Amino acid sequence: MSKRDYYDVLGVSKDASKDDIKKAYRKLARKYHPDVNKEEGAADKFKEVKEAYEVLNDEQKRAQYDQFGHAGAQSQGFGGFGGAQDFGGFGDIFDMFFGGGGRSRDPNAPQQGADLQYTITLDFEEAIFGKETDIRIPKDETCETCHGSGAKPGTKTETCSHCHGSGQLNTEQTTPFGKVVNRRVCHYCNGTGKIIPEKCRTCGGKGTVKKQKKIHISIPAGIDEGQQIRVAGKGEPGVNGGPAGDLYVVVRVKAHEFFEREGDHIFCELPVTFTQAALGDEVEVPTVHGKVMLKIPAGTQTGKTFRLKGKGAPNVRGYGYGDQHVKIRIVTPQKLTDRQKELLREFNEIGGNDATEEQDDSFFQRFKKAFKGD
Ligand SMILES: [Zn+2]
Ligand SMILES: [Zn+2]
Repeated sequence: MSKRDYYDVLGVSKDASKDDIKKAYRKLARKYHPDVNKEEGAADKFKEVKEAYEVLNDEQKRAQYDQFGHAGAQSQGFGGFGGAQDFGGFGDIFDMFFGGGGRSRDPNAPQQGADLQYTITLDFEEAIFGKETDIRIPKDETCETCHGSGAKPGTKTETCSHCHGSGQLNTEQTTPFGKVVNRRVCHYCNGTGKIIPEKCRTCGGKGTVKKQKKIHISIPAGIDEGQQIRVAGKGEPGVNGGPAGDLYVVVRVKAHEFFEREGDHIFCELPVTFTQAALGDEVEVPTVHGKVMLKIPAGTQTGKTFRLKGKGAPNVRGYGYGDQHVKIRIVTPQKLTDRQKELLREFNEIGGNDATEEQDDSFFQRFKKAFKGD
């Protein structure tokens, strides 16, 4: 099996900075580290990623790799620029400068299939408790008629006679500075290196067909907005026998009428009457785990927050539960009966409205003073 392009392995562009390369490496190393990832092939992927990083992170090795491909990166002291004369005439040197990197990619090398992304929208409670579900995604499947070759059954694909299977064509140009060789993708075979004389009728020669594919996913309890679930090997199929890509399921969570979530904690507002707040009461509070009784002490102010321990969302990594925070909102009555109004007036007359002294609230006092003008 021939080696994959190091830039492809790390998923970075050819002009990626050292920083980008380091970042990409760290991300992939975490993903495939054998201590973390027990899937088949993860160890090999980890090795591949490590090797690519060791070359691209070293300026000298990277330069050699850019010019000479894998052979350049592996043979230390290969010569780099100084050794250019070993490669023959002027044309070759120009080829290195002008030939789009001069590095040819083997079109027949196994390539990993593309990753797919799917967005799933969950109800608030579904995100908290998790769920098992099937999703349907349109994805490329290897064509069953031709088994991916793209050729009509009974016929064969042929090596492209124009590029001799390399997928690339060289064009020579004579300039005052010498012979310049340009290398570009072979347009006879679109860079595949293969020609299909009789195309498979099912897939039209592509080797793949789009199908609605049912995929089972387990959504872990405690998942939150924006988090992703990776389903290994459920992306697009690989090319030339390469491994399939991965499927990333991005989670969106619908807003809840009463609850709001921040990490593992859930927040809600609890409306209480001013008599409940003044005299104290025990009230029922809804939580995602069912109703809970909450004691409101006499003299509770609006904005006061109570904590219901362990009544939040489960931690998605299994570290227990968050809390529910209940913020009290005192509701001023709007429809009072005559009798209620009478009682309130009486309440006012006997000094019930004098919040200043009763509560010794310095803010209240300063506030009142500011408007009296003294
Ligand atoms: Zn060709
Ligand atoms: Zn086919």
